[in-house]
Amino acid sequence: MAYTIGNAVIYTGDELIEDGYVSFEDHIISAGKMGDLKSKIDYNAHGMLLMPAWINAHTHIYSSLARGMNIQFNPKTFTQILDQLWWKLDRNLGRAEIEASAYAAAADLIHAGVSTIFDHHSSQNFIKGSLSILKSVIVDTAGMRGIFCHETSDRDGTQIESIEENLDFYKSNRSNTVSGMMGLHASFTLSDTTLRDVSKACDGKVPIHIHVAEGIEDELYSINDYGIRIIERLDKYGLTIPNSIYAHCIHIDESEAETIGKSRGFIANATQSNMNNAVGIADIKMLSKHTKVVIGDDGFGFSPPFDLRITPLGQKIAKNSPTAFSTVDLKSLIDNTFELASNHLNSKFGKIKTGYAADLMLIDYRSPTPMIKENFWDHIFFGIGAPVRSLFINGKPVMIDGEIKTFDEGEAKKESRRIAQILWDKLK
Ligand SMILES: [Zn+2]
Repeated sequence: MAYTIGNAVIYTGDELIEDGYVSFEDHIISAGKMGDLKSKIDYNAHGMLLMPAWINAHTHIYSSLARGMNIQFNPKTFTQILDQLWWKLDRNLGRAEIEASAYAAAADLIHAGVSTIFDHHSSQNFIKGSLSILKSVIVDTAGMRGIFCHETSDRDGTQIESIEENLDFYKSNRSNTVSGMMGLHASFTLSDTTLRDVSKACDGKVPIHIHVAEGIEDELYSINDYGIRIIERLDKYGLTIPNSIYAHCIHIDESEAETIGKSRGFIANATQSNMNNAVGIADIKMLSKHTKVVIGDDGFGFSPPFDLRITPLGQKIAKNSPTAFSTVDLKSLIDNTFELASNHLNSKFGKIKTGYAADLMLIDYRSPTPMIKENFWDHIFFGIGAPVRSLFINGKPVMIDGEIKTFDEGEAKKESRRIAQILWDKLK
């Protein structure tokens, strides 16, 4: 049975429809002006903005329970941030913590209008089956789409188990709602032996999801210890596989960006997280000359509106120019992110057009000034604080009028607060 939303201002990805409708099942059936609609409507948008739901190209659900945590923390470098916080946390995550993290993240993501995530998971003492726990909460229960992987790293000696978990999950989860990747931490915690094992497992087909040159030390370590830059090193092992995600790439050079582009890889930017870690700001214009840049959040807050605003601001500050990054540039990052998801889930995302996936959000945005397709992304950039009221994923209502329909948010958060306290006490 088709479901119809009516009386909305619709941004289709190309056009703006002033008073429009959209009819859909799991895919969009039709969209147009209210005057052309023959059937009744199921949801009256009362003039709200209807547009494709967001996609998050690089996140960390496992960081969810760290919010507000107080541990000894006095890092001087990026590696010390990992050592003093994230590696301590991820060694203490078991089934209950992963599940609670996933519900907490799902609630935030749904409220922010996110339909699909590329999650980079780490629980170094609970690897086998960890990705299925995430899938069970995010996809099967919350009704979102997810592409999951586990962080392979030599730092705890668990690399073989991680490779197996990634490969098993990838092989048994290939649909338009869920898929897998080969998760790798970063070049500086991966030995040549491990990269050889990863290469064998990927066989040139399984895309990798890795942090690259987030801190300068990652690049320096590769040059000093292996005599080559990070992307050259990955390429040497046949790991520049199409549709791979290289997160950050703050300190890579043009030749590395070119190699990523030639192999049809994507670079995930997460400016907000980079600012928080004081690791620098990637040169998006330089990277975009060679390859496609997408937007993730690195687990910092699960809220695309923040990332959409801070990404251009970061570029302007870094270049000391108010014209360094336009809202047209911002749109191209969003379009790239939809393309990345389309490639992984074998479905079309990012437009409200016949045949595209019915992943839609309604934003309570009543424009105070004229809104046309030419200035639509200016409205998004400058007026982005408006709340998402309803979210449909794969045609199903996941949130209606601010209330999550797929799980009990109140109960889930009560449980995540309980589990977080136990975890914090352990980490003291
Ligand atoms: Zn990350």
